[in-house]
Amino acid sequence: MPSEETEPPLTQGAVETPDEDYRLLVENQTDLVVKVDPEGRFLFVSPSYCRAFGKTKDELLGRSFMPLVHEDDRAETAAAIARLHLPPHHCYVEQRAMTVWGWRWLGWSDTAVLDGEGRVTAIIGVGRDVTERKAAEAALAETTRRLELAVEGGDIGLYDGSVLPLDMSVDARYLAMLGYGVGEIQVDLQSWQQMLHPDDRDRVRTLGEQVVRGDLDRFEAEYRMRHRDGHWVWIQDRARVYERDADGKAMRVAGTHMDITRRKVAELKLEYLVDHDELTGLLNRRGIWQSVQRIHAQSQRSGRSCCLAILDLDHFKLVNDAYGHGVGDEVLKWVSGRLRQEVRQADWLGRWGGEEFVIALPETNEVQARTGLERIRESVAARPIQIKGQQIRVTLSIGFATCQSDEGDPREVLARADMALYHAKNAGRNRVCYDGHDSGVYAVSMAVLVQSALQTARILPAFQPIVELRDRRVVAEESLARIVAADGRILTASAFIEIAEQLGLLHRIDSMLLSATAARLKCSKGSGASRLFDFVHLSGDLVRHPDILQTLARELDGVSKATNAAPPLVLTLNERQISAETEQVARALAPLLDLGCRIAVSDYGGDTSSFRFLIHLPVSFIQLDANLVRLTSESARARSILATIQHTAQDLGITTIAKQIEDDATLQRLIELGVDWGSGYLFGRPSEPG
Ligand code: GH3
Ligand code: MG
Ligand code: MG
Repeated sequence: MPSEETEPPLTQGAVETPDEDYRLLVENQTDLVVKVDPEGRFLFVSPSYCRAFGKTKDELLGRSFMPLVHEDDRAETAAAIARLHLPPHHCYVEQRAMTVWGWRWLGWSDTAVLDGEGRVTAIIGVGRDVTERKAAEAALAETTRRLELAVEGGDIGLYDGSVLPLDMSVDARYLAMLGYGVGEIQVDLQSWQQMLHPDDRDRVRTLGEQVVRGDLDRFEAEYRMRHRDGHWVWIQDRARVYERDADGKAMRVAGTHMDITRRKVAELKLEYLVDHDELTGLLNRRGIWQSVQRIHAQSQRSGRSCCLAILDLDHFKLVNDAYGHGVGDEVLKWVSGRLRQEVRQADWLGRWGGEEFVIALPETNEVQARTGLERIRESVAARPIQIKGQQIRVTLSIGFATCQSDEGDPREVLARADMALYHAKNAGRNRVCYDGHDSGVYAVSMAVLVQSALQTARILPAFQPIVELRDRRVVAEESLARIVAADGRILTASAFIEIAEQLGLLHRIDSMLLSATAARLKCSKGSGASRLFDFVHLSGDLVRHPDILQTLARELDGVSKATNAAPPLVLTLNERQISAETEQVARALAPLLDLGCRIAVSDYGGDTSSFRFLIHLPVSFIQLDANLVRLTSESARARSILATIQHTAQDLGITTIAKQIEDDATLQRLIELGVDWGSGYLFGRPSEPG
């Protein structure tokens, strides 16, 4: 745009005698140059103008320029031309025109040519394409409009100022968020830090230092600031450095503050619920597990022992049964309150699930833990709880274990505490038991091993042959549970069955073995009489899981249909392990018996034999107690008992099987007694598992 103040108006004489240079300049302009008469008719058009409008000089000269201007811009253009009659006889106007490139914005600098009396005789216009600039301006205007809307609608406070020393100019919204009016406070380092929540100060300061140093480009943090009336306001602060010194140190910064208190409070509530139990307000399983891991890690670093305790309410089912679940819940709350009062400041307490609690005791040895846990136990047991006019007494069983510095996994410590709890229950409840390391380590590592073997399906059957004693012909096989440890070690059932039972995992082990055996039956060739019997053990646990047996029955149904014969599966029951009523056992086994599976009773003649299974179940086999078998060759009494059992079995049409036969002398005696079948190293060792 020409500067209107300084340039003198053109006179007629100056433009009537252009020299050659002037002509060349005009002809080669990329800007558009025109001369029009006061009515707007072309007197001169530059070649660039002709190109822009796709017309020849002759088509334009003598015609008015106005029809080429966008309809909406004509009024403004006419007004600008009218202003040329007045000093300073210059004007600048922007208008759209239809060029060969379509509608374009052209910016025109117009200058009037005057005669001696100061009348306008012609107008010289120099035009330039300003379309891109116009578009950029429009975009900027839109952005600014949106930003203003956002700042206003989003309740965003703005600040801007120097970093070192901190001195910010802040706007009214920034101040209002904190309860102040304009000019009521100065935001410098001291006042800002004073307003910051003490728990957020270090974090925010560290971040600020990183931004000042240039390690971070922008500052972004959520922190609390004290409102004028004392409550805390959550602020989201986002800032950017826009000036740094030669060393890259921040000098000036601008940023925004947003009040995010509502969102933050909701978030914190949600966070709270993620690791807290709603009923008792204690940490929930997830929450206490995190504390356990933290305390365990601390103990590993410091080498100082810590303890984990599991607490379980005794006979809580009875409380629910007697008073209802609502009262049960109240009892749980009451107990939680007691525990909260009794644990030390540094301890962590959580609800592990149901009526079980976990306490993590950092930097605590066995003696200290026992003292504290005894106090807790007594405090719960000592006073009856008053709920809805009822007096209820509850007691706790507690198991605890110490973390050893070389124990990499807190789960192992918890597993030991759990074993100790189990002992506390077994020993009569309402007591504290400690899992010492001497005997405990074995139990725990075994428990961990069993659990991981179950997860990774590394419990596999090995098969041991059972033979007809007289001709040593193999007539059956017995599936024996094996754990193949990660390092390839093979563990026999005697090493882990007891622990699996204590962990309530026996049914899962049995279920794995049963499935493997069923799968084997499916693949095995031969049919009818030539097929070997498969003996598989059924624990008491499994009897309590009839669903597993039903699934098995469905699998076996397929087998019997495919082979057109009853599946040669023998379910071995051990009285010592099966405490369930005989009727319940019969009901659980019914689907399998219906398919033609057989029943064997094991360890017969051992210390827990009775006749209850023989009387009530269709038993086909008796497996004789191994001790009795071992004594056969040396003890006449053992032989006498065996003879009685053999007699009964024969009467009932039951086949007898002697286990663990290791020498010919024993074999001879057994044959003399009429025992039918047998197994043991004398005939063959169990196969490799798998
Ligand atoms: P013990 O531990 O002494 O062997 O006997 P118990 O009766 O406590 O046995 P168990 O641990 O098997 O049963 C726990 C019972 O706790 C079962 C369940 O009904 C009850 N329970 C679990 N969670 C809750 C709960 O949130 N509210 C109520 N009211 N009862 C619960
Ligand atoms: Mg329980
Ligand atoms: Mg309980």
